Amino acid sequence: MSELRQDPTTNDWVIIAHERAKRPNHFTRSKAPAEPPPPYRPDCPFCEGNESMTPEEEWAYRSGAPNGPGWWVRTITNKFAALSMQGSMERKDEFGLFRRMDGVGKHEIIVEAPRHDVSMALMSSQQVEEIVLMYRDRYLQMREDPRFKYVTIFKNHGERAGTSIEHPHSQIVATPIVPAAVRRRLDVAMQYYDNTGKCIYCDVLIVEQKVGSRVVYESDRFVAFHPFASRSPFETWVFPKVRQSAFGQISIGEAKEFAHVLRIVLLKLHKGLDNPDYNAIIHTVPFKDEVEEYYMWHMQIVPRVSHVAGFEMGSGIYINSAVPEETAAFMRGIET
Ligand SMILES: [Zn+2]
Repeated sequence: MSELRQDPTTNDWVIIAHERAKRPNHFTRSKAPAEPPPPYRPDCPFCEGNESMTPEEEWAYRSGAPNGPGWWVRTITNKFAALSMQGSMERKDEFGLFRRMDGVGKHEIIVEAPRHDVSMALMSSQQVEEIVLMYRDRYLQMREDPRFKYVTIFKNHGERAGTSIEHPHSQIVATPIVPAAVRRRLDVAMQYYDNTGKCIYCDVLIVEQKVGSRVVYESDRFVAFHPFASRSPFETWVFPKVRQSAFGQISIGEAKEFAHVLRIVLLKLHKGLDNPDYNAIIHTVPFKDEVEEYYMWHMQIVPRVSHVAGFEMGSGIYINSAVPEETAAFMRGIET
């Protein structure tokens, strides 16, 4: 019999399809292995040596002069940015119903390494640390702009995750609005806080640690687990153990430890599912809510091993053909 499970942080329901459930090792990529990419491509704008092919760099960890080689993590404006720094912040209404405004915002690419052929799962711990420190630096810089209300930090790995660019990169988008999905998570967390005086994410973490069967990996200050109501197979959340509302509140030491946990989780996914495509997203609070106590920033990693179709779009109910307790056990068993 299948089972309906509710995510207490969003109130969304999922169906855990026990009967249709596949064994964890059945999610391994089935397509023939592609040719491994070369370490350098002359036509790749993100490769070291091709800096003139990108817009000017915003920030880089480097030894040489800006806009040349010698860097190890590099942030540039997205050439095909969804939002731009120019424009008016004025909101306009059509017949008092349809609201619109200029597409103001900042859309950056974080090039994660000078080499073309590395992926975060296989990088050194130190390189992943540098990437997470760049996330932190860009967050802190974007929050200085009074026009921006929220920042989304994310990574698309592989075509099924929405990118055709092989070169390892992350993205960061600052918006002049708080996205509706963020608002909804905040509403649920606020309601819980009003009712109990506690942070829902802290309570989820306490229970996940107590139950233990969905925990994948744990360090002194972070826990990675497959959530109780996972929407898709191998969905992974990484929580700090001590509550912080905003990602930007992470210290440099914590950022390095978070990078270590992130690398371990990605390496386990890489080995267990043979380099799956995935999306990784950092969920945080709007800048103005950084002082509030009802939310905890966290990362969500969603391997793209299943399809979203009409039922999911119509109902918001995801059908998960794997059991989180089983996938977590499988992940725990993978050596790193
Ligand atoms: Zn490249």
